Order: sequence, then C-alpha cells, then structure tokens
Amino acid sequence: MRDLDKLPKVHLHLHFTGSMRVSTLREMAEQQGIRLPANLVDNVALSVPADQRGWFRFQRSYDAARKVVSSEEAMRRIIREAAEDDAQEGSRRLEIQVDPTSYAPFVGGLTPALEIIVDEARTTSRVTGVEVAVIVAASRMKHPLDARTLARLATTFAGDQPGDVIGFGLSNDERRGNTSEWAGAFNIARRGGLAAMPHGGELLGPEHLREVVAHLKPTRIGHGVRSAEDPDLLARIVDAGIALEVCPASNVSLGVYPDESAVPLQVLFESGAQIALAADDPLLFLSRLTDQYRIARDLGATDRQLADMAISSINSSLASEHSKSKWRAEVRDWLATDEYEQGNTD
Ligand SMILES: [Zn+2]
Repeated sequence: MRDLDKLPKVHLHLHFTGSMRVSTLREMAEQQGIRLPANLVDNVALSVPADQRGWFRFQRSYDAARKVVSSEEAMRRIIREAAEDDAQEGSRRLEIQVDPTSYAPFVGGLTPALEIIVDEARTTSRVTGVEVAVIVAASRMKHPLDARTLARLATTFAGDQPGDVIGFGLSNDERRGNTSEWAGAFNIARRGGLAAMPHGGELLGPEHLREVVAHLKPTRIGHGVRSAEDPDLLARIVDAGIALEVCPASNVSLGVYPDESAVPLQVLFESGAQIALAADDPLLFLSRLTDQYRIARDLGATDRQLADMAISSINSSLASEHSKSKWRAEVRDWLATDEYEQGNTD
C-alpha cells in the first residue's frame, strides 16, 4: 500500500484553534496558569457514548481551548504549527478558517487580529512550502450584522497570494439563526472578491442545505455530507460545481453518523461531487488530514480512488491554475510509483 502521507493533497477545512496540537494547548495553558478540562488534554478524542456525543460538548471544549489563545505569539504559533503538520502529511496548501473576533481583545482589535493571521500565513507559506490562505468565518452565534462587519474587514485583505484572505465562511451551530439573514454578509464578501464557503449539511439535513445554497451561493460547502440523503439536491450541487469539504472523523465525533462506515463517502464520490477530505478540528477529534484518507482506504477506496480524491481536493481549492496542475502531476507520480519502491525511499 502506498504511503498516504506522501499523497499530494490540499487541506480546505481546518479551524484555527481546532488545528492546535494537544501539546501546544497544554503548554500555553500551563504558562498562563489556566486549568483545562481533562478531556482536552487526555489525548482521547471526544470519546463519549454515542448518545452523549454532540454539539454542546464540542462547543464547550472549543471555547475552553480558545481562552488559552490570548496573544500575538500564540496566534502566530498556531498558524505555523498547522502548516508544519500539514507539510508532514503531504499537504501542498492549507486554507485555514478563522473568526478573528475571539482573539481581537488581546491584540488591540479585529483589524490587528486579522493582520497578525495574514502576516503569519504569508511568512509560514515561505518557510514551510505549504501555501497558506485564509478564510474569515463569521459565527452563527452572533448577530448577522457582526458578520457584515467581518465581511467588510475580510475583503480588505482579499487577494490570491499566500497569506491573503480568499474566502468568507459561516461556522458554529448550524441550528442557530435563519440562514437568509447572512445573505447580506456573503454579498459583501463576494463583491469584495471572496468566495463563499459556509458550513452546512452536517448537523442539519437537505432542507438546511437548500437554504445555504439558495441564500449564501457557496463556492464550497463545509461538510454538506447530508446532501447524500437527497439525490436531487446532490445532483444540483454537483451540477453547480459546488465542492464539499468532507470531514469523516468530525462527523463521527459529533454523532452525525454512528461510525465511519456510515459516512456516505462512496455516495458522494460516485455522484461526481468535488470532495475535499479534511480534518475540521484535529485538537478535539485527534484525527488529522491523512487520517481522513486512511478512513477512506479502510472503507475500501483503492489507491487510484484515493488519488482521485486528492485531485478533487486540489481542484476544489482556490490555488492558482499553475499550482493546481503541478500538484495534479505530483499525484499522478504518486500513483505511478510502485508501492514497494515508494516504501524504500523512506
Ligand atoms: Zn468546521
């Protein structure tokens, strides 16, 4: 079997705080004398009975982790380590998602918070060789007018170079708020040159996804896995060329599916959907980028299908055509390399 860490791929759904290494979180907490909930540092991934999994437990853990990120240094370290970890796993590009609101109070406001992230993403791209781009994500827990402010700010950092903001997202509990109320923020983002990349179709099903598609006009959807429950909707998503950021470990940890075999990877793949496997929040799910490809392999995907998934992730990214064609060629090289020969190059 070929080495999945060597399979060239890109990473399109990773949250800023959720990307942290457990060791980094622990170290930062100790430095500040912050006591963390045991479940955050015990190296057991949200491992609770299936009937107790779910959003609120996740949200509490995430909030506790976020409290530890209270300086420019911490913010820079998170970006740098996320890219370093991605590099280890064959990722050529990381589109990292961040809501700068939570970090703003520690660094003098929203604008400096985003400036720090963008600046570090640029530096880290140069140092690690992984292109790091930024997606600014609003939260469903806040007023939709907050999202407009964030969208305006995000557009001032828009661009297509490493470090630039490339997209605008909407994250947090899908069950909160009316999706249509965020249309204004997404319009601002789109007019400012940003792609729409909201979450949808993970905790809620096809009905919610239809609203996300209609009101937010996504280029990509965070998750969207539950489109598999409605063939017509899935066909529309495929026809519209909307890519899906699929995070199997996250789905299972949040109790959306009872186990990995229930994640409808095959259905999505066979529908012709552009899918990009991603980790979402490795800090909480203890499952990183390559692990998602490992899950697909365990479910029966051949190396050719895994290579197709990697190419699908590349095509779903907002990288330049030049980068994309280079990485696709590297995927073909991976597939062309005899698995034994590849093993010997370690
Ligand atoms: Zn997410």
